[in-house]
Amino acid sequence: MTPRKEKKSSSSAQSNPSPKASDDDLLVASTNPPGAVLSPERFAALEKVGQHSSDLMIVIDAEGIVVYANPVALKTFGKTFKDGIGTNAFDYLHPDDLERVAVRFIDLLRTPGASIIDTVKSVTESGEVREIEIVSTNWLDNEAVQGIIINGRDVTEHRQYVAQLMAHEQRFRLAFEDNMAPMICTDLDDNIITANDAFCQMVGYSKEELLGHDSKIFTFPEDVGITEESHRRATTGDGGPARYTKRYMRKDGRVIYVEVSRSPARDADGKTLYFIISERDITEERALTARLSHQALHDPLTGLANRALFLDRLSQAHARVIRQGGMGAVLLLDLDDFKGVNDTHGHLIGDQLLVAIARRLEEVSRSTDTLCRFGGDEFLYLADGLTSPEEAEQVARRLLVALAEPFSVAGIHIGQHASIGVVVWDASRNDSAEIVQDADVALYEAKRQGKGHHVVFTSGMHQQAVSHFALVQDLRRALSAGEIVMHYQPIVDLNVTGVVGFEALMRWDHPERGWVPPTVFIPLAEQSDLILELGAFALHEAATAAGTWLPDAPDAARPYVTVNLSAHQFRDPGLVSMIEKVLETSGLSPHRLIIEITESVTLLYIAETLSVMEDLNRLGIGFALDDFGTGYSSLSYLALMRPRIIKIDQSFVSPSLESFRNDTLLEAIVTLGHNLDMTMLAEGIETHAQLQRLQALGCELGQGFLFSRAVPARYVAAMLARLPGSWKSLKNP
Ligand code: C2E
Ligand code: MG
Ligand code: MG
Repeated sequence: MTPRKEKKSSSSAQSNPSPKASDDDLLVASTNPPGAVLSPERFAALEKVGQHSSDLMIVIDAEGIVVYANPVALKTFGKTFKDGIGTNAFDYLHPDDLERVAVRFIDLLRTPGASIIDTVKSVTESGEVREIEIVSTNWLDNEAVQGIIINGRDVTEHRQYVAQLMAHEQRFRLAFEDNMAPMICTDLDDNIITANDAFCQMVGYSKEELLGHDSKIFTFPEDVGITEESHRRATTGDGGPARYTKRYMRKDGRVIYVEVSRSPARDADGKTLYFIISERDITEERALTARLSHQALHDPLTGLANRALFLDRLSQAHARVIRQGGMGAVLLLDLDDFKGVNDTHGHLIGDQLLVAIARRLEEVSRSTDTLCRFGGDEFLYLADGLTSPEEAEQVARRLLVALAEPFSVAGIHIGQHASIGVVVWDASRNDSAEIVQDADVALYEAKRQGKGHHVVFTSGMHQQAVSHFALVQDLRRALSAGEIVMHYQPIVDLNVTGVVGFEALMRWDHPERGWVPPTVFIPLAEQSDLILELGAFALHEAATAAGTWLPDAPDAARPYVTVNLSAHQFRDPGLVSMIEKVLETSGLSPHRLIIEITESVTLLYIAETLSVMEDLNRLGIGFALDDFGTGYSSLSYLALMRPRIIKIDQSFVSPSLESFRNDTLLEAIVTLGHNLDMTMLAEGIETHAQLQRLQALGCELGQGFLFSRAVPARYVAAMLARLPGSWKSLKNP
């Protein structure tokens, strides 16, 4: 049974609906088509149209009763044929629209042939609200027939879709306009169709100035190609999102870097409609990254390469030498006693000095070489492409000469010398990290040999360095373990051959090595702060011991004690207060303390030394200039320092060097001292002959094995008890 057939039969028997029509049958038929409205012919015509229409079609009579509903209409309201026909159409209207539609329909009924268009809310059988766009037409084509034919379309989904679309559009507009990120949209010719405020701010142009133009107006001229290429790809290639970086020239002329993300906006068919371009000003970010990467590879204070960059260049140079042959060198430069600068003048001056040193070293560096601050007061120099080891030594000398002139920092003149360890390497070396270690070993050796010069690494140095290192470690322990002691060597008045004082000399009573001489461990201690501890210890011990010494005759002066001080101690700002404290705790009169300093020490840091000497002189402490004649004697400095005693180095006195020349020098030195009104002391007197000669020259004081070696403190009293002149009976040792 086809619905059509059924409907036809129904329409012919108007009051007798087909028994076969079921509730589920949504097809059109009429149970009771009011003949007044729909003649069978009309009904048939309507049905023909309505059956195939994709729109809903309803015919109502003047009372609003449904006389015809096509399948789409029935389906829309969830009605069956049976339920639909004969019901009141106004029952389907949503209460909101009821009155309005009723008024309009009444109007419509008054005007035959008229139509109204409206969108109404209706309620389906299941209670669902649907929106229907309707065209309602007065059906009155003859006086007898009153009714309205309603053509409609369920636009619920469409309306929802449009609403969504609008909300979407609204959201996009807000997201675009108010976006903090600069954004523009461009058409397919890359002309700007819209730009947000952030974008205008970024490029410094107003919206009006931008619209309709392409990005060339603000693109940095050299980067126009980047935009063109991106646009070409976007419109020809796969057209997917793209990201690139380019420069813009703002309206004010400032150049900025931007990161551009371009995505196509497409229609449902995938056709590109326009481009959405979001941008980011990365100028500061780039600058920061550049700064950070510079910082990562450079020393912030001096701006020189840092350790990481140096090691990288070294391994590159190393690899090059392995490939191409030749040789290179690494020079490790360490400032001598730099700590003293910090201690004396403060870190600010210390830092400025480091910068000044970096500039001097830079001036004499080859552009192909790498100069680096290795940390603290250490600099590394990589000499690349050498043809002989001698060239490396030339570099070392050049660097040392660069530092020879004193520096002027904040109006202060500071002399700063350095030591250099040199390693020359070629393809046979297989580890670049090891090269730096070897430079350190050579540097250590340079320091040990007396600073201010360079030493080239040799394989034998390694073992030596290791044992030195072990010794320094051991020395730290020794001091607290009480293995360091002071011995005292008498200072004799050569006229009466009586003891007038003692020189305190340090000894290390090593549990395995036996007595370790100070000439071995003092230079090691001088490479660290350990020397300050040892120096304080010596002063404290010597002053405490001397506090107990009494003169050998009741009317004679009490013997004095001389204590050797290292150069490092003179650069320690705590020196003067430390000595004051020592005098206080030991109760020793300052007049009985004489400090021995060597010429080389005083010459290196003349200004600092002189000022400390002045302070100590004021306390009443005297000075002895030790090892006179071995350093770079300068008479002007001698006059400046005015030491109480000049100790003539034993090389002028010792028998091995006894010669006419030495004798003449000895005489000259003694005469010089006397002319300057200073007391002369001869070191290393071992024979009666030497003693007599010195006596003949009028040298006042002497020390040496002829009288005594340095002895432990407990023998001092016995030595003092000897009457003057008793030394004369001494035999040669
Ligand atoms: P110095 O101050 O010139 O000390 C004199 C050195 O000559 C001492 O060696 C002493 O034992 C030695 N000597 C004395 N008479 C004779 C002699 O007739 N013949 C020979 N051949 N040598 C003689 P020592 O004790 O080994 O000291 C060596 C150096 O170590 C000292 O030279 C001094 O510069 C340094 N030193 C010793 N003790 C200290 C100390 O407490 N502090 C510091 N900073 N340096 C010290
Ligand atoms: Mg001495
Ligand atoms: Mg000496």
